[in-house]
Amino acid sequence: MAFDRFGRNINYLRISLTDRCNLRCVYCMPEDMTFRPRAELMQDDEVLRLVRIFADLGFHKFRLTGGEPTVRANIVDLVREMAATPGVEKVAMTTNGLLLDRLAQPMAAAGLKRVNISIDTLDPDKFKKLTRWGEVEDVWRGIRAAEAAALEIKLNAVVVRNYNDREDVVDLARLTLYQPWQVRYIEMMPFGEISDFQLAGVVTQAEIHQTIESALGPLIPVNPGELDGEASLYQFADAPGRVGFISSVSQPFCASCNRARLTADGRLRLCLLREKEVDLLSPMRQGATDVELVAIIKDGIWWKPWGHGLSQDVIPLNRVMSEIGG
Ligand code: SAM
Ligand code: SF4
Repeated sequence: MAFDRFGRNINYLRISLTDRCNLRCVYCMPEDMTFRPRAELMQDDEVLRLVRIFADLGFHKFRLTGGEPTVRANIVDLVREMAATPGVEKVAMTTNGLLLDRLAQPMAAAGLKRVNISIDTLDPDKFKKLTRWGEVEDVWRGIRAAEAAALEIKLNAVVVRNYNDREDVVDLARLTLYQPWQVRYIEMMPFGEISDFQLAGVVTQAEIHQTIESALGPLIPVNPGELDGEASLYQFADAPGRVGFISSVSQPFCASCNRARLTADGRLRLCLLREKEVDLLSPMRQGATDVELVAIIKDGIWWKPWGHGLSQDVIPLNRVMSEIGG
C-alpha cells in the first residue's frame, strides 16, 4: 500500500492517455494549443507497465482521461489489458462523449465500468461557444450509446460565469428528476496561461446550489457530511437521479483525497492544483527496474501536497488542465 506523510492511503490513479482533444473547451485549453510530439508521450507498453506497478502497490481504481482519451489509438485494447491486470478492480473513463457512439460498446465489452461524460449545457449554441466547435447532439448520441452498453453514467458540467451559470445549470439538474444519473457541477479551477479567464469566471457551489433551488425547489442532502468520491450529493424529493458538487476551489476535499495522476508524458502529479510532479517516463526509458520505479513512486506519494494555494494567489502554471487530466 502507498501512504503519504499525512496518513492518506493513495490507491486511485487517473491516467491521462493523451494531451490531444477533438474539442477546445474555453475553460480547459487555449484555442491555439500545441500538443506534445507523440514520442514524448507514454506508449502502450509503458502505460501498461505502470498500471501493473501501481496495482501491485495497492491501487485498485483507475480512470482514463486526457485530453480526450477516446482519441488515443488502441483505446479498446488498452482498456482490455488494464481491466485484466491483477489488482485492478475498476476502470472508468472521463470523456467528452463525442466518440462513444462507436466506442461505448467495445470498451464496455473490454471491461470499462463507468463513463463520466462532460456536458456543460443542453443549449446547442452555448455548447458550441464553450467547446469552440462541439455539437451537443453528438454528446447525446454518446450518452445513449453508453446507456445501451450498460455503462454506469455520470454527467459533469464545469460552470463558467456568463456562459452557462443560469438556466443551463437548472436544465441539467432537471435531468435528475427523470433519469437515474448523477449530474455534477465542477467549480472551474485556474491553470497556466488561461488562469486569468478562469479566475474571473469561477462560480461557487453556493451560487450554483441557490440558482438550482430557486428554480426547482429544495435539494435534500444525501449522506450529509460525506463525499461520494469528490462530490457532495443532493437529490430532489423522489427523484431517481442525484445532483453533485465538486468544489475544489471553495471547499477543498484534501483530507479524503486518495488519488494520484499520471500525465500523458509520464509524470506522477500528486495534486491537481500544485505543480509538484515526479518523472517516471525518463527513468523507465533509461532502464529502471520495477523495484527502482516503485521506490520513486512511493517517495513521490510520501510527499503528496496538502491543500491548494489559490487564496495566496499560488496557481499551478506548468500545465493546463488538458495536460493533467482532471
Ligand atoms: N476530455 C475529457 C472530458 O472533457 O471529459 C476528459 C479530460 S477533461 C480535462 C476532464 C474533466 O476536467 C472534464 O470534466 C472537464 O470538464 C474538466 N475540466 C477541464 N478544465 C477544467 C477547469 N479549468 N476547472 C475544472 N474542471 C475542468
Ligand atoms: Fe477536451 Fe475535455 Fe479539455 Fe474539453 S475539457 S478541451 S473535451 S480535454
